Amino acid sequence: MECTCCGACCVAPDIAALDKPLGLRCPHLGADNLCTVYERRPQVCRDYAADEVCRRIEAPTLEERVNNYLALFQLTAEAEAVRESGCASMRMARALRERK
Ligand code: SF4
Ligand code: SF4
Repeated sequence: MECTCCGACCVAPDIAALDKPLGLRCPHLGADNLCTVYERRPQVCRDYAADEVCRRIEAPTLEERVNNYLALFQLTAEAEAVRESGCASMRMARALRERK
């Protein structure tokens, strides 16, 4: 599967190396959905490659693709809780999870 630069993998998953919570846009993702720090991106981003998931989450908008991704991994409710709480970091998101 070829990467279509759809941006979903820079929004949907939590990325500890970037202190990025689940379902929130990576601050390095540009308005064109391309990485603005591509040459300096962390290893976890370098290691990520397009696969079957990319095809399964395909949709016309980034929001839909992110929602499809979260649903695929049964993370919709958790992402919603993170968004509602206003978590800005993985540390806050983890604390939220531990409070449950
Ligand atoms: S979700 Fe897949 S297709 Fe979209 S940017 Fe990430 S690797 Fe590329
Ligand atoms: S650093 Fe770049 S490649 Fe990594 S999640 Fe952020 S925008 Fe995506």
